[in-house]
Amino acid sequence: MPAEFKTFEHDVLVIGAGGAGLRAAIEASAAGVKVGCVCKSLLGKAHTVMAEGGVAAAMANVDDRDSWRVHFADTMRGGQYLNNPRMAELHAKEAPDRVRELEAWGAVFDRTQDGQILQRNFGGHRYPRLAHVGDRTGLEMIRTLQDHAIHQGIEFHMECTVFKLLKDGERICGAFGYDRERGRFMLFKANAVVLATGGFGRAFKITSNSWEYTGDGTGLAYDAGAELLDMEFVQFHPTGMVWPPSVRGILVTEGVRGEGGVLRNSEGRRFMFDDIPDNYKSSTSDNEEEGWRYTQGDKNARRPPELLTRDHVARCINREVKAGRGSPHGGVFLDIAWIKEKIPNAQEHIRKKLPSMYHQFKELAGIDITTTPMEVGPTTHYAMGGVRVDGDTQMSCVPGLFAAGECGAGLHGANRLGGNSLSDLLVFGKRAGEFAAQYAKKNPPAKVRDADVDAAAREALAPIERQSSNGGGEGPYQMQYELQEFMQDLVGIVRVEADMKRALEKIYALNGRVKNVVVQGNREYNPGWHTAIDLKNLMYVSEAVTRAAIERKESRGAQFREDYPEKSAEWGKYNLVLKKQADGSMGLTKVPRIEPTSEQNQIIEEMK
Ligand SMILES: Cc1cc2nc3c(=O)[nH]c(=O)nc-3n(C[C@H](O)[C@H](O)[C@H](O)COP(=O)(O)OP(=O)(O)OC[C@H]3O[C@@H](n4cnc5c(N)ncnc54)[C@H](O)[C@@H]3O)c2cc1C
Repeated sequence: MPAEFKTFEHDVLVIGAGGAGLRAAIEASAAGVKVGCVCKSLLGKAHTVMAEGGVAAAMANVDDRDSWRVHFADTMRGGQYLNNPRMAELHAKEAPDRVRELEAWGAVFDRTQDGQILQRNFGGHRYPRLAHVGDRTGLEMIRTLQDHAIHQGIEFHMECTVFKLLKDGERICGAFGYDRERGRFMLFKANAVVLATGGFGRAFKITSNSWEYTGDGTGLAYDAGAELLDMEFVQFHPTGMVWPPSVRGILVTEGVRGEGGVLRNSEGRRFMFDDIPDNYKSSTSDNEEEGWRYTQGDKNARRPPELLTRDHVARCINREVKAGRGSPHGGVFLDIAWIKEKIPNAQEHIRKKLPSMYHQFKELAGIDITTTPMEVGPTTHYAMGGVRVDGDTQMSCVPGLFAAGECGAGLHGANRLGGNSLSDLLVFGKRAGEFAAQYAKKNPPAKVRDADVDAAAREALAPIERQSSNGGGEGPYQMQYELQEFMQDLVGIVRVEADMKRALEKIYALNGRVKNVVVQGNREYNPGWHTAIDLKNLMYVSEAVTRAAIERKESRGAQFREDYPEKSAEWGKYNLVLKKQADGSMGLTKVPRIEPTSEQNQIIEEMK
C-alpha cells in the first residue's frame, strides 16, 4: 500500500532553524517567495542558542586598527590557507552590516562607554572583534532572528525531521520527513532547498553538541549527490567540562580566557607559554604581565598564549594530561578567579561578564568559578567540513540545493576561529536565502515522483517492520554508542593511520548492522526509531571524516597526525572532496585549493 503523508508546498524550503536557517528564511521571504522552515526541535532550541562568546565582525568599535582586511587575514591564517578565499573575503566584508542589521532588528548587545556595540578578544583574532551579550550571545541572536522571522509569513514546521531529499532528474524538488511526536510522514515540495542543519558532533563520544547534531544535512546532501569538503577537519574545542561525568563535554567558552582566565597544569605552571608556534610568535606575549594587559584592552600588548587557535590549545592540554600533569579528573585547570590579584571587585566582575559560566559550574559541578579554578579538557565542537558550495551563492553541485552555516563548508579551511561561526550564519545564511529565492523564481516547478516518496517511506519504516517479522534483532542505541566510542578513540584529537584504518573497518562492519537495525514499538513518540533514522547520516559523516583524515598525510589546523606531525607544503595545495559514486561507494578526490587573488595575497602577506 502506498505510504500516507501530508503535503506542503513552498518555493523555498529551509531545513534548520538555527542562525543560518532563520537568516536564510528571512531573506528568501523578503524576496517575495513562499518559504517553509523545518526543524527537529522547537523553534528557539537550535544549537545557535548555545553560542556564548560572540559574533566576529570587524566594526573597529574598540580598536580602530581593525578592518575587514585584518579579519580576512586572521581567518585565512586560522584556516591554514585551505579556506575558500572568496568566502573569507565576503565574510569579513559583510559581517559588520549583518551585525548592525541584527541590532536594528532589536538585538541588545553589550555597549562601550560611548554607546557602541562592545567587542571582546577571542583566540586567533588580532583585535577585540566579538560583539557579544555577556556570554549569552546566541540566545540574543536567535531571539532576534526568530522575532523577525515570525512576522515574515514563513511557515514553520517544528519537531519534524527530514530524512530524504527528493530530486527531479538532476535538480532538487523537495524533501520527505516525519513529525517526531506522532511519526506521520510529511512531503515538502519546493523548487529550492536550503540545508542549515548544523554540525555532527554526535559522531563522537565527548562533545559540546546537543542531541540534534547528527550530521543530517551533510548526510542528506551526500546521499543526493552533493560533494563534501574538508571533512577531516573536526574542531576539538580546548575547554569542555570534564567533571562530573554526566556533563562531560559541555562547553566552557573561550570568553573565559578572553576575560583573563589562564590555563595551568597540576604543577601550577602556565604551560601555554612553553609552546608558541612560529607563525604566531610575533603576535603572542612571552610573559604573564603583557598577556594580562592585552585582556584588559592595552593596544600595545600582545595576546596571551591561552588565546592561540583552538587546535593548538587543545593539543597542548592533551599533552599535559598525557604527561601526567593533568587535573584530578583528566583535564587541566582554567582559572579566572586569580584576577582578584589584579582588580578589586573581581567576583562581581566575573559574574557580570560570564553569567552563564558562573551558573553552569555552580549548578552542574558545585564549583564557584569566582573563587575556584575549573577543570577543563578538549571536546568535539565544530565541523569545518560539510557541503561544498559556491562561495557567492551557497549552491551545491546539485541544482537548487543550497547549504549554509555549520553544515556548509569552505569559509574556515582547516580550523575555525571562535566567533566566526555566528558571523558565517548571518553572512552566508542571508546569501543562501537570497540565491535560493532567485533560483526558485527562475525555474519552472519541479516534479516529485510518487515512487521516490514511497521508497523513502519504506526505508524509514523498515526498522519497525523488521521487529514484527523476526521478533528480535539489534537496536540502534548500542550501534550509536559504539560508533561514538571508536570515533573518539581512533579518529579523535590525535590521529594515526593504523588506528584510523581500524576505525574504517569498524565503520564497514557497522554499516552492515545498521542496515538491519530493529526498533521496538511503533512510530508514535519513539526515540529508538528517531535514533535508527539518524544512524544513516552519522555513518556517512563518520566514514567521510575517517577517509579524508587517512588521506591527508600531514598535520594542519584541526587535523593532528602523530605519524605525520609536520605541515606539508605539498598538502597545503589541496582540499579533499568526497562524493557518492554510482556503485554507492564513497569516492575521494584531491582538488587544488582555490588560490587567493593577487590583492588577497597582498593582504595576507602584509598581515603575517
Ligand atoms: C556551546 C556552544 C557555544 C558556541 N559558541 C559560539 C560562539 O560564541 N561564537 C560562534 O561563532 N560560534 C559558537 N558556537 C558554534 C555555533 O553556535 C554553531 O556553529 C552555530 O550555531 C550553528 O548554527 P547553524 O545555523 O548552522 O545550525 P544550528 O543552530 O545547529 O541549527 C540547526 C537546525 O537544524 C535543524 N535540523 C537538524 N537536522 C534536521 C533534520 N534532519 N530535519 C529538520 N531539521 C533539522 C535543527 O533542529 C536546528 O533547528 C558554539 C557552539 C556551541 C555548541
